Amino acid sequence: MVKVFLIGYDYKYEIREFLKLFYPANSIEIITDIKDSTDILNKDYKNDIIISELKIKNNIITARNKIINVNKSNFKETINNIQINKNENETKIKKLIKILLKSSLFKLLQTEKNKYIPWGILTGIRPVKIAHGLMDENKTDDEIIEKLVSDKLLKKEKALLLLEIAKRERPYVYPIDKNKVSLYISIPFCPSRCIYCSFPSNSLSKYYKYKSDYLKALFIEINATANLIKEKNKKIETIYIGGGTPTCLDSDEISILIGHIIDSFNLKDLKEFTVEAGRPDTINIEKLKILKDKGVTRISINPQTMNDITLKRIGRNHSAIDVIKAYEMAEKIGFKNINMDIILGLPGENIDMLIYTMDEIKKLAPNNLTVHTLAIKRTSKLEKENYEDNNTNIVDMLEISKEYCENMGLKPYYLYRQKHMLGNLENIGYAIPGNECIYNIQIMEEKQSIIAMGAGAVSKIVFPDEDRLERVPNIKDLITYMDRVAEMPERKKIYLI
Ligand code: SF4
Repeated sequence: MVKVFLIGYDYKYEIREFLKLFYPANSIEIITDIKDSTDILNKDYKNDIIISELKIKNNIITARNKIINVNKSNFKETINNIQINKNENETKIKKLIKILLKSSLFKLLQTEKNKYIPWGILTGIRPVKIAHGLMDENKTDDEIIEKLVSDKLLKKEKALLLLEIAKRERPYVYPIDKNKVSLYISIPFCPSRCIYCSFPSNSLSKYYKYKSDYLKALFIEINATANLIKEKNKKIETIYIGGGTPTCLDSDEISILIGHIIDSFNLKDLKEFTVEAGRPDTINIEKLKILKDKGVTRISINPQTMNDITLKRIGRNHSAIDVIKAYEMAEKIGFKNINMDIILGLPGENIDMLIYTMDEIKKLAPNNLTVHTLAIKRTSKLEKENYEDNNTNIVDMLEISKEYCENMGLKPYYLYRQKHMLGNLENIGYAIPGNECIYNIQIMEEKQSIIAMGAGAVSKIVFPDEDRLERVPNIKDLITYMDRVAEMPERKKIYLI
C-alpha cells in the first residue's frame, strides 16, 4: 500500500497510471488538496508515503518527490527542474510538467524499488513513432538512442529495438501518399471466447443465427464505402479481413464475401490481402482453396501456445495438432505468407512450456510470427475473474522468444504496447525480410488512412499535413450495427477528403 500526496498539482489520473509501473493498482491511494507537507510528516501512517510537489517560479518548474518508508526510518528524494520559455502555450507547458513529474518520480522509485522497467516513462502504445519522429528531424542513430535513453528513460536495448524497427518500416511508410488507403473488414464471430479477449467478438453458438443477416448489412456498408473511395479517388494498398475469426464463415459465405469485395473495389493497386484464419478449428481445405483462388496473399493461423493444457485453459476448442494440420494444409495449397501468433505468460505457462511452443513453431518455420505478451484487458474474462499474474519469468520469456526468432531468420518489423501487459513489456511482429505485413505497419505508424467496415470496426483517417488523425468508430453491438448500418459510411464521409 502506498499513499501519494500531490501538492501544487492535480494530475491524479496520470500519476496513478504511472505508479502502476511500481505498485499494484489496488494499493495506490492518491490524495490531493494538500497545502504543505508538514502535516503529512506529523501523522502516523501504516504504509509508505510519497510526497510529490510541483512549483513554478520565474519560468522554472521544479518537481520535488520524496518517498518515506513505513517506519520513517529513511527517505529518498529527487529534485528536478526545467526552464520554460515565457511565451510557451498552456498545452505545451502541461505536457512538459507531466514529463518532468514522471521522470522525477521514475528516478526516485527506480532506485527505491530496483525494478526492471525497460520502457521508462513511455506509456503510449506506439513507441516506434517516436523513433520515426526523430529520424524525420534528421537525427543520427546515436542521437536517437541518446534521446530515448535520457529523455524517456528507456533501457538501451529497447531504444535500439525501436530504431531497428523504424528503419525496417520506413520504406513501407514513406514517402507518404495521401491517396493510398487500406481497408479493414470485421467479421466479429468466434467459435468460443478466449479468456483474455476484449474484442467485440460474438461467440458463434449464441450469434450463429445472425451470420447471414450480418453479411447482408456488411455488404450495404461495403457498397457505400466503395462508392466513397471511388468518389475520392483513393488507391487501395492493402486489405485485412479480421475480427473475430473470419474463417468462422462457411465456405460459401467466404466465397461470396471475398467475391463481393473484389467486385466492389478497384484493386489494381492492391499489394497485400490478409485474412485472419486465427482458429485452426475453423479452417478446412475448401476454405483455404477459396482464399487462395480469390487472391488472398497472407493468412494467419494462431496457436497462441502449442501446449494443449493451456489451450483448454484459455478457452480455445482446438489442440496443437490442429494447428500443425491447418498450417501444413495451407502450405500445401500454396500460401507463402503465413503468420502465427503466440502469447507469452498465459496462465499456468512456464519457461519449459514456452520452449516447447517455440520448438514446435520452429519446425513449421512460418515467415511471420507475432509474439504477444499477455495483457489483462478490461472486459476480458481474466479481468472479470480478478486474475492475478504470478508470472515472474515474463522478461526471460520475451528474451527466449527473441532468440528463437533470430535463429529462424525472423526480424522485428512492428511493435506496439498495450495497457495492463505483464511486465509492462511489448508485442513484436517478426518476419523474414521482404514478408512484412504492410497493413500492420500502416495501422501502427498512422501515416495512411484505414477505412474500416463491419461491427466494432474503427476507421482511422489521417491528415499527414496537419499531423492529425480522426478515429471514426462503427457501432460495436451486432444487432444495433445491422439496424443502423446506413449511418456507418456517412460517418466516414465527414472526414474522408
Ligand atoms: S480468437 Fe481472437 S477475437 Fe476470437 S475470442 Fe479469441 S482473442 Fe477474441
